Amino acid sequence: MQSKGISNSGMPYRADFRRIRHPRLELKTGSLVLVLPDGYKDPETLIKRHERWVNGKREMIKELLKKSKIKRLGKALAEDEMKLLMQNLVEKNSKEMGFKDFSLRFQKMSSKWASRGRSGIFTFNTMMAMLPKHLIKYVVFHECLHFFERKHNSFFWKLVSKKYGNYAELEKELALYWFMSHRKRSNIQPHNEKGVY
Ligand SMILES: [Zn+2]
Repeated sequence: MQSKGISNSGMPYRADFRRIRHPRLELKTGSLVLVLPDGYKDPETLIKRHERWVNGKREMIKELLKKSKIKRLGKALAEDEMKLLMQNLVEKNSKEMGFKDFSLRFQKMSSKWASRGRSGIFTFNTMMAMLPKHLIKYVVFHECLHFFERKHNSFFWKLVSKKYGNYAELEKELALYWFMSHRKRSNIQPHNEKGVY
């Protein structure tokens, strides 16, 4: 079920009711979506509690959208080159992190750069060919770390920061590239909660 509303502070939002336990907030192209457990009654308090996060996020998206119109994409990697690079990176990480069973899949994805399934299957968005190499390395490292922790919680970011102390900057840069490579599409979703994937 869906409904629309405007918060006391004047922020328009859409509410999606689902069979979930915990409410969460999402921002798609800067507009607020509340994903709520069925029967959830108090979106106002939820918005109030996360107001700073929402405002900060909207500002960031606005800024990135502006930047994405000026910045040009570089030359994309050839498909074979990209696949080989990712295969090598995952292999290197698997040795360092100690996981064994994995395989790589490549497909066009509409909402994220990459994901890692429970069975060790990495799915990489073919759009990653547009990314500069330092971001490809970061995305692969990030996905590999999901071997230890599936969620984007503080433990996960602590692991990331051991190698990438500047991960917040890199996540932002990834969001910028997301906007740049999806300029023509209407339903862009740069982030889920904190991470791009
Ligand atoms: Zn992630």
